Amino acid sequence: ASAAGSKSTIGLIPADGIGREVIPAARDVLEAVAPNKFNFVHLDAGFEHFQKTGVALPDETVERLKGECAGALFGAVSSPSHKVAGYSSPIVALRKKMDLYANVRPVASPVGATGTPIDMLIIRENTECLYIKSERLETLPDGTKIAWADRKITETASKRIGRMAFRMALQRGAIREARRARGETVAWEGKPRVTVVHKSNVLSVSDGLFRESVLSVRNGEDKAFKDDVDLEEQLVDSMVYRMFREPHKFDVAVAPNLYGDIISDGAAALVGSLGVVASANVGDSFVLGEPVHGSAPDIAGRGIANPVAAIRSAALLLEHMGLDAEATRIHSAVDKVLSEQAAILTPDLGGKGTTRGVTDAVIKAL
Ligand code: ATP
Ligand code: MG
Repeated sequence: ASAAGSKSTIGLIPADGIGREVIPAARDVLEAVAPNKFNFVHLDAGFEHFQKTGVALPDETVERLKGECAGALFGAVSSPSHKVAGYSSPIVALRKKMDLYANVRPVASPVGATGTPIDMLIIRENTECLYIKSERLETLPDGTKIAWADRKITETASKRIGRMAFRMALQRGAIREARRARGETVAWEGKPRVTVVHKSNVLSVSDGLFRESVLSVRNGEDKAFKDDVDLEEQLVDSMVYRMFREPHKFDVAVAPNLYGDIISDGAAALVGSLGVVASANVGDSFVLGEPVHGSAPDIAGRGIANPVAAIRSAALLLEHMGLDAEATRIHSAVDKVLSEQAAILTPDLGGKGTTRGVTDAVIKAL
């Protein structure tokens, strides 16, 4: 739902630690890229909120997201190292309550990197697989233990994540065409490609269903999925190997929850600091942008957190809201600052700069 007039309402949930520093930075960039276009509402959640109130994710936050907001930005939550009674992660709960069934993570070469540029998008199914947390411990008569875990793969969830992969592959293809038409160099040649990641040679029933479901989407409903998108399959082990050897050969990769979790963190290592990697939690009617990093308690409160991941997450949010031009302007401004202003960058990128300094430079570059 969006607010009256042409204004869109964006929820801001800074939550914990450096989330309180990088989310305001991202908000300032959104305001600068489209002055007066957005209403911002500040919403509570997080471990610190839990310590104060006993609630990690207030009902009001969920209600206002559903009722007022077109999308939202989430900062980071601190994860207590031991189990705290009554506490569970608000971001996990938000994904469930808002039905954000896909985690989408762009992986792109650091600006100024040499070699063939990397520009891939990893789409991870976010609601099932081993992460349904159905585990039990059995003790045998001789006292030794066995742990069991269930893995759930449904046709419905696999098809909808497959559909999202093909849709995004087409969207990326269209953006590349537009850039080529403007005379920009675009490394990827040919049709968009979807790589389905699975292990159906071993887990023929569960991974087999995931694989078949994604393949069936390509052969059904939208003719463009088949005509305009190439399809490739990778067993997850070979995917890891190839992704590290030849990351530039991937466009969109789609995977069940566990494999997706692992390959998306691995891919982040290909492109440098955690402080620059963005993600989005996507459902059919809502998007939540979220930097990949955590609350970084070691640097929180010092004004030196890198805001780039949060700013790029804001750009992702705009892309999913259909504001491609604004999103592209933000990415270009960030690229410019990263490549031309090494001295003002934050310490994680080797500079002596601050969150504020980087944010102001991005706004100026817009
Ligand atoms: P959490 O429990 O919230 O995940 P964490 O201790 O795992 O906290 P992360 O946020 O995952 O911390 O960060 C890991 C390391 O990367 C830390 O040393 C942190 O300072 C650094 N880091 C993470 N994000 C940023 C950022 N935006 N800018 C600078 N450094 C960062
Ligand atoms: Mg962490």
